[in-house]
Amino acid sequence: KQILKTDVFGKRYVYMDTTESTNLEARYLAQQGAEEGTVVVTEEQAAGRGRLSRGWYSPFGKGLWFSLILRPDFAPVEAPKCTLMAAVALTKAFHKMGLTDAGIKWPNDILVNGRKLVGILTEMSGSMEEISYIVMGIGVNVKTKQEELPEELKLIATSLTMEGIDIERTEAFKIILESLEHQYYEVLDSGFEETLNEWRQLSVTLGEEIEVRAPGNTYEGVATDIDEDGNLLVRIPDGTVKRIMAGDVSIRPR
Ligand code: ADP
Repeated sequence: KQILKTDVFGKRYVYMDTTESTNLEARYLAQQGAEEGTVVVTEEQAAGRGRLSRGWYSPFGKGLWFSLILRPDFAPVEAPKCTLMAAVALTKAFHKMGLTDAGIKWPNDILVNGRKLVGILTEMSGSMEEISYIVMGIGVNVKTKQEELPEELKLIATSLTMEGIDIERTEAFKIILESLEHQYYEVLDSGFEETLNEWRQLSVTLGEEIEVRAPGNTYEGVATDIDEDGNLLVRIPDGTVKRIMAGDVSIRPR
């Protein structure tokens, strides 16, 4: 097996054979003062998580399961847009690898022909005034084969290998971290506007009929755009436009 190493986004690397969850580990390190750019990477997660406490399947040696610590000095209300930024950076990285069909499902899933290639879980710590740190957890299915997927993921997950992209994890990691770093510094230099425009270009959600499932409230409509905060705008049949915040809802195509 190969140790994942690069020296791009990551003044500091923490590599682990196995861990509960890289986000948990990274949060712990961030609380101890770990610097921006610290990357926690593992071969497998025993309890990888998605949003809304759903599980993330992270088998040994098959993917890039990692978390990145950021300490941006922008306002906490901007933090949710980091998730969209990550999705943009990753999608561009896949395009670079030759996977041109990769697109973004709002807010942050990366899909290929409707199947999920990547999950992103962003967690922030701080006050209303100041971000202490952001931990960005990213899971990329790289080497997983169709027959290895657990039953419940057989129709909804994909991997680089399954999409015919033959690339070593170290190489994929390098391309992804470079892309994340590039996107992050562009945001720090010039704000989120250009990144949100790129998000719109790369999205597979905009223009689609979707079903929104919020706790105790399900409705249908057309996803028309995202606003400057990264919220999804959905026009429901009576013409009203609903503004949906990431984190508390699931959407699915109709
Ligand atoms: P959502 O797409 O609803 O936002 P999450 O971001 O919370 O979902 O991701 C968790 C979901 O992703 C799980 O409920 C499961 O359906 C799916 N999933 C879990 N592990 C993987 C994986 N390795 N690859 C693709 N999909 C996965």
